Amino acid sequence: MTDSLVVRVPAKINLHLEVVGRRPDGFHELRTLFQSVGLWDTLRGWPAEEGRLELEIEPHGLVGNGPDNLVVRAVRALWREIGRRPGARLRLGKNIPVGGGMGGGSADAAGALILLDRMWALDLPSSNLRRLAAELGSDVPFFFHGGLCLGVGRGEEVLPLDDLPSLGIVLVVPHVEVSTAEVFSRLRLGPWKRMDDRVYAGVVDSTPEIEWSAACNDLERVVCEGWPLVAEALEGVRRLGPLFSTVSGSGATVFGVFESLDAASRAECVYEGPGRIEVVEILGRTRARPEAVAG
Ligand code: ATP
Repeated sequence: MTDSLVVRVPAKINLHLEVVGRRPDGFHELRTLFQSVGLWDTLRGWPAEEGRLELEIEPHGLVGNGPDNLVVRAVRALWREIGRRPGARLRLGKNIPVGGGMGGGSADAAGALILLDRMWALDLPSSNLRRLAAELGSDVPFFFHGGLCLGVGRGEEVLPLDDLPSLGIVLVVPHVEVSTAEVFSRLRLGPWKRMDDRVYAGVVDSTPEIEWSAACNDLERVVCEGWPLVAEALEGVRRLGPLFSTVSGSGATVFGVFESLDAASRAECVYEGPGRIEVVEILGRTRARPEAVAG
């Protein structure tokens, strides 16, 4: 059998997320801090004959492998870009919760672009890959960088920032899938917000630090009102005494930030509430940036 290539892409949480306003094009203007965390999806690929595309997903049936799958959409976007259809057999190992606000589908799309660019020896300019990424989804470009990034626009304009000092994260994944579109449609917005600089003041320094008292997620209230299980999980995390806690993206995952992995592990033991709980660390850019390697 031909040798395979493999890429591992870590999930993200949003340490801060402001909805600045609604744009004339209908999208919401965001300002967010993306942060990679230690929970990975793995995509493995083998070359196949022209025009052939197979995608196997583990666990089987967790998400469909049809035309809506972001890996399949990434393949088709590359085919259109290069004007031919090299084949691929792909196996996606999903570990990032689905519909959890941790960017699982977007991570997979970025992974597919990176893996296939190498497997098919395309060597596309990174600006072309980033354009395809932004077309596939607002969160996809972040996954090319990983680490801590400021996201603006729909979230697709990404500015990489220096790594934060290590932090431990308690993640709670309630057993409910929250639709991002539904959350945004329930959001009531006033006039465009002015930028609250306090949360960003530290992140542009050489040793970035977040002002946790100023961090927030503007989607939290809508998600907690609409999906009571998320509200319950968030209350459970708050009782653990984190530096900061909120929902990730549009939920359903909630998280608490602790000063170390040890502190997060101690807190995990006394969590009472719904959902699956995990303790992960934040990842600096060197560990988070996805790379296609033989394996
Ligand atoms: P978003 O904020 O974009 O909704 P999310 O992080 O909340 O993302 P995802 O796990 O990316 O959640 O799943 C969102 C939707 O995307 C799901 O309904 C799922 O069916 C669809 N989807 C398409 N491809 C994938 C994929 N490869 N992995 C996970 N979900 C996928």
